[in-house]
Amino acid sequence: GVVTQAQERARRGEISTDSVADAAAAALPRRATTLRPTINATGVILHTNLGRAQLSAAAIEALQAAAGHTDVEYDVETGQRAQRGRGTMDALAAAVPAAEATHVVNNGAAALVLAATALAAGREIVVSRGELVEIGDGFRLPDLLECTGASLREVGTTNRTSLRDYESVIGPDTGFILKVHPSNFTMSGFVSAVSVRDLAGLPVPVVVDTGSGMLSPDPLLPDEPDASTMLADGADLITASGDKLLGGPQSGLMLGRADIIDRLRSHPLARALRVDKLTLAALEATVRGTESPTWQSLRRDVSELHARAEGLRDGLRQVGVTADVVETVSVVGGGGAPGLELPSWAVALKPDLAIPLRTTEPAIVGRVEHGRLLLDLRCVPESLDQTVHCAVLTATQGQA
Ligand SMILES: *Cc1c(COP(=O)(O)O)cnc(C)c1O
Repeated sequence: GVVTQAQERARRGEISTDSVADAAAAALPRRATTLRPTINATGVILHTNLGRAQLSAAAIEALQAAAGHTDVEYDVETGQRAQRGRGTMDALAAAVPAAEATHVVNNGAAALVLAATALAAGREIVVSRGELVEIGDGFRLPDLLECTGASLREVGTTNRTSLRDYESVIGPDTGFILKVHPSNFTMSGFVSAVSVRDLAGLPVPVVVDTGSGMLSPDPLLPDEPDASTMLADGADLITASGDKLLGGPQSGLMLGRADIIDRLRSHPLARALRVDKLTLAALEATVRGTESPTWQSLRRDVSELHARAEGLRDGLRQVGVTADVVETVSVVGGGGAPGLELPSWAVALKPDLAIPLRTTEPAIVGRVEHGRLLLDLRCVPESLDQTVHCAVLTATQGQA
């Protein structure tokens, strides 16, 4: 590739034959992945296109520790095979004592597929019409569930579903009742849904897809369901994503009754949805740690954000760059806390800087609004303010 191209350039006389090796080396990518490190200045905490959650330093260290050979499925004491990912399962068990057992698969969608296949293939999944949601990028929950061979038994209406609706359809054909958290929209007005607590009184399993992966309640997000509360309310199985509000690697968490988790784990499909050692390592570190970058972004103090935006603006103005400070609103995004608006502050720049900032390294992605490029600082660690300053200066000089 790069060598042939350099030789071709030499043949055309564009470079000397002596510099073929140098030209080839210069054309090599700077690292072995084409994935570009990116600073998220969009103000969307979990931006699916930017890889959702940013891993904690502890999770990154865990990834490195597990990257070579590791005892993921091996007991160093006995020299025998051991349960895969047991440290991760222990961490989840400690974080959610109400769960009798846990299992981890590739993502939230995989968790639903495994539950539907193992517990309801050839039978019915009872679900409210108000909870048949599209997650994003055309991914629709009903399609996903039906492709497993389970059939959906829709109950209620878009805006209202009652306990009677569920009661009237459950029977020997019921695999389970599924409650889905509407994680990317809100409904208001003449609406009602049935709580997990009420559904738990019915004689069929209740599976709750909480979506965002919170393990226990967070006072900052009172409308977001969490695994501990749902299990205490009587849910039999919880499914969730690991890379949303939990702030970990892409993964699908399954927590609940031991007999159900056993059925999931021993189903042939479980092997196809199995997570690798890197995921297990990063997830364990995330669950054992306290403050993920997602958690920190949610809690960044607004007056601190204001002060940082002013600092960046002043620094840029000193070197002749047009910059302002504007008040803005950040959101959780990526399937969590719909409707929640977090006050924030941004540096406003000329919109023609958007492309040069996106194509530099690290890429800086903001959002263009009302003819200005806004860099919302909520998801930008303070340690990167200087990097942002330098990148804006370079981009401005490139425009001149
Ligand atoms: C995000 C989400 C999913 C899909 O999870 P992935 O990890 O993206 O596969 C499923 N259900 C709900 C409610 C979600 O919010």
